[in-house]
Amino acid sequence: MAQLINGKEISSQIKEEVKAQVTELAGQGISVCLAVIQVGDDPASSVYVRNKKKACEYVGIKSISYELPESTSEEDLIVLVRQLNERQDVNGILVQLPLPKHMDEDHVLLSIDPKKDVDGFHPQSVGALSIGLPGFVSCTPAGIIQLLKRSGIAIEGKHCVIVGRSNIVGKPMALLMLRENATVTVTHSKTKDLAAYTRQADILIVAMGKRQFITSEYVKEGAVVIDVGMHRDENNKLCGDVDFVDVSPKCSAITPVPGGVGPMTIAMLMYNCVASVSLQSRK
Ligand code: NAP
Repeated sequence: MAQLINGKEISSQIKEEVKAQVTELAGQGISVCLAVIQVGDDPASSVYVRNKKKACEYVGIKSISYELPESTSEEDLIVLVRQLNERQDVNGILVQLPLPKHMDEDHVLLSIDPKKDVDGFHPQSVGALSIGLPGFVSCTPAGIIQLLKRSGIAIEGKHCVIVGRSNIVGKPMALLMLRENATVTVTHSKTKDLAAYTRQADILIVAMGKRQFITSEYVKEGAVVIDVGMHRDENNKLCGDVDFVDVSPKCSAITPVPGGVGPMTIAMLMYNCVASVSLQSRK
């Protein structure tokens, strides 16, 4: 029987730790504040933004939100980001993605002060991660490292195979696993014979955005499987990139969907907001 990696429980632990740190900072007269900007009214984005604000409230982080109309120009959005960069009372800035099509996401992300880049998407944050300097780490991959460590799963010396090379999951995940001394293989849509690679994984991390694609033929007996995917099945129930029912009997540990990677992302955002305070105190 595979160990179920409990993201709900681990994310709650992290939120409690962040809450205690926020209380301690408040005792020193330091408050933590996150600015959240949403452009347009995409329903999925509205749910994410609402959940982020709720988490802030729970841990005691102040949140200021900006709900801008879809027609906002990229220039006006960047002006707002720059104003927030200058505000001493704002520690973190989060621009909810995706942005409307008339905007260049890269331009907007570049305008965020790297010291306030709590999503970890700024090129400077990514560069810092790749050479081991302090900086923000993208929340989902950072959450996966916590899931593994807090579930007692050793990473060092293991062969980690990652399916997907996106800037927000696959690539930072590879850098983090390397930092943890895993041997890392990154696969993508042009990889030939994907199963030949995934079957070599001690730790298989799947972030491909393909509903229940990974079946037991892709998995080595006893592997640890982390499912980042988030989809609805034909009965409108949440499911992942991994066929959980088929794969779980074969592995030693697995994340469920829901209740695996999903809850970790917001918990790590809260963690990054608190980390921003000490990052900003560096010269
Ligand atoms: P993405 O930007 O669409 O990237 C998908 C990656 O998978 C790409 O690198 C793509 O390769 C690769 N891929 C697609 N088909 C493949 C195939 N048949 N074989 C091998 N590789 C394949 O997606 P993402 O943003 O990383 O997200 C991945 C999934 O995680 C989505 O379901 C998303 O909803 C979910 N997600 C969940 C959370 C969370 O908090 N739980 C956070 C972020 C994302 P190419 O580069 O060659 O195109």
